[in-house]
Amino acid sequence: MAFSDIVGQTKAKAILHAALTHDRLAHAYLFFGPAGVGKEFTALELAKALNCQTQEDDACDQCVTCRKIRTFNHPDVKLVFPTPSDFSVADMNAFLQEKAADPTLDYHVDKPMSLSIDTVRALQKEAAYKPYEARKKCYILLEVDRMTVPAANAFLKTLEEPPSHTQFILTTSNIRGLLDTIVSRCQAVQFTPLSAEEIEHALIASHQFDPAEARLAARLANGSLGEALKAQDHQLVETRNQALQIMDAAFSNQAIEFLTYIEKMGKTRNRNLIIQLLDVLQLWYRDLMMMKEFDDADRVANLDQLDRIHRESDRLSMNAVMASIQIIETIKADIRQNVNVQLALTVLLLRLRKARLLS
Ligand SMILES: [Zn+2]
Repeated sequence: MAFSDIVGQTKAKAILHAALTHDRLAHAYLFFGPAGVGKEFTALELAKALNCQTQEDDACDQCVTCRKIRTFNHPDVKLVFPTPSDFSVADMNAFLQEKAADPTLDYHVDKPMSLSIDTVRALQKEAAYKPYEARKKCYILLEVDRMTVPAANAFLKTLEEPPSHTQFILTTSNIRGLLDTIVSRCQAVQFTPLSAEEIEHALIASHQFDPAEARLAARLANGSLGEALKAQDHQLVETRNQALQIMDAAFSNQAIEFLTYIEKMGKTRNRNLIIQLLDVLQLWYRDLMMMKEFDDADRVANLDQLDRIHRESDRLSMNAVMASIQIIETIKADIRQNVNVQLALTVLLLRLRKARLLS
């Protein structure tokens, strides 16, 4: 891995590369932008580039230093992150191991968590010492908006007078949650959502996605590679095929088949899976809209179903397609509000069918 392995983020890369080349790094960087677009990955690459034994302004990823940083075994490069109150040392090690195996994986815990003043004090004590072996000691602080107010105030003192041998790299997906005084003492570098093409390419090149799966995942990911990677085990093509089968049954009056599907779905306890099914279905109608508007296969996500997209986009009016997208949106909101899944899906299919008949 090196700077060139960072997906997208041309502007952020240019800023950092120029700073490295001219040896004019800010004492502290704040990488901000949505989750899953490469902030944490870039922070690690920067720490490597600052200390690599063979390259001046990039990381070789081969030397002992780069390898130690990548596996979180370097004594001078530390990852600091907020934790839930019940986070154990074993949880922490498990996360570091996962991240070492896949550095594109962003830190995420589905629980309230905070970065405490104790953690900041320990960091301050340690940061005062000279590095053991690195040129620059690096502290990468993840999701710094989770700092408690006392922790942030304590950390502010370090940012005001940073030790000269130390580089701070902070990341946040919620810059508004940070104290202004912290933001103003860092050089802020913005990370932007990735394009569907950038994500699709990365999924195929570095994450062993099959092309049809990558195309769907990239277009459902809202600009976040991290989000697309979550779909890895979800078999989106399979989900899409299932959605098409349910529609076929509903639209062609195969009532028993249709009810069997809906009943099966209704038993699913995982609402996220149902939402994903609806996302996939919405993407299907979005494809029909694209095909009607532009007649251009490049804009279609379900490229492996091009014949069917052509057929349906010819059959349905633009109004029917737009109405269908809106119907799915409403049902998604209902499902998030905990309505009965079986009922919601039945209503969905009846409304989609009605929209179709009006075409
Ligand atoms: Zn190296």
